Amino acid sequence: MDSWNWSLSSNGNFTTKKLSTLIDEKILSGYSRTNSETLKNYLVPNKLEIFIWRVLKRRLPVRIELDKRGIDLDSVRCPICDDDVESLDHLLFFCRVSMDVWDKVYKWWGLDAVTNLSISEAFRGKCNRNLSHLESLVWQAIEWTCASFIWRNRNQKVFTNSCWSVPVLMMEIQLKSFEWISNRIKDRKLDWLIWISDPCSSLARIRV
Ligand SMILES: [Zn+2]
Repeated sequence: MDSWNWSLSSNGNFTTKKLSTLIDEKILSGYSRTNSETLKNYLVPNKLEIFIWRVLKRRLPVRIELDKRGIDLDSVRCPICDDDVESLDHLLFFCRVSMDVWDKVYKWWGLDAVTNLSISEAFRGKCNRNLSHLESLVWQAIEWTCASFIWRNRNQKVFTNSCWSVPVLMMEIQLKSFEWISNRIKDRKLDWLIWISDPCSSLARIRV
């Protein structure tokens, strides 16, 4: 009897688990937490470090990258705004929804927005104000959380044709970063109400 043979496994049998492993191996090929170039931040889960590693290596499957690899798409335009092609830089920084979200995040932290962000400079916890070591680590965690929610929102739009409003995205970023960070500094309590109104002040309190 005729049957299908899956050439990517040694025994010819297809399993979704094996496919998932192969995709992970392909996407994460070259990833190593011990590599000095890999950005690390103990305040967030490892999956977020991996996400940022993929961003810095330009390994997120935005439409312009898929198109370059010969994948046939209906459109290479940004699924969120439709104003430009969907490159990583456009999606993360220059899409109008992303710019609105970054603007809110900067305002939340009382920072001036950086308008000429590039992927290689971003995500390092730097800003135009002197931050303490802890503040800088937390700010980096916020930058990463913000980028990951922009990506999640984009995927929601692509796969379910729904997306969050900017205020909802902002609330998700504040909630998730609070959850991640407060779980990792368990012995020192982070106050949610101070966190959302003045994050640096909430961090100053936990040093006491
Ligand atoms: Zn856009």
